[in-house]
Amino acid sequence: MNFYDILEIGVDASDSEIRSQYQRLARTIHPDKSSAVDNHEKFIQISEAYQVLSDPQKRKEYDDNQRREKLYQEWVISEELLLEELDYEEQDGIYIHTCRCGGQYILAVEEVDVPEIVVICDNCSLALLVLIENIHDKQN
Ligand SMILES: [Zn+2]
Repeated sequence: MNFYDILEIGVDASDSEIRSQYQRLARTIHPDKSSAVDNHEKFIQISEAYQVLSDPQKRKEYDDNQRREKLYQEWVISEELLLEELDYEEQDGIYIHTCRCGGQYILAVEEVDVPEIVVICDNCSLALLVLIENIHDKQN
């Protein structure tokens, strides 16, 4: 279960939704109000989830990790690189990286508008995970 499931909220929940949902759940299962061991563990889970999701920076890191984990479950990712580590071919407006099979990962500039992107090799089933947001982080 991820933190959103634990708090029974959607991934796009606002700060106030997170807070009120935490309050609601914490009230119903607070260990002082119940002797059940299950409730105590649930309370710890809820507190942990709330501590992360109520902190914008921690929530962002958590979301990033969750997204990345999902990508690793969906694809056979052989490498993880920063966008700037790829070769840029200005003429064609593409980023290129050579796969270990000898094939190529080709990423068009237009696709570079998300924090990370999976690029499939043009010759085998391996995938390259390109991290894009780091560049923006540095600029900010
Ligand atoms: Zn390949």
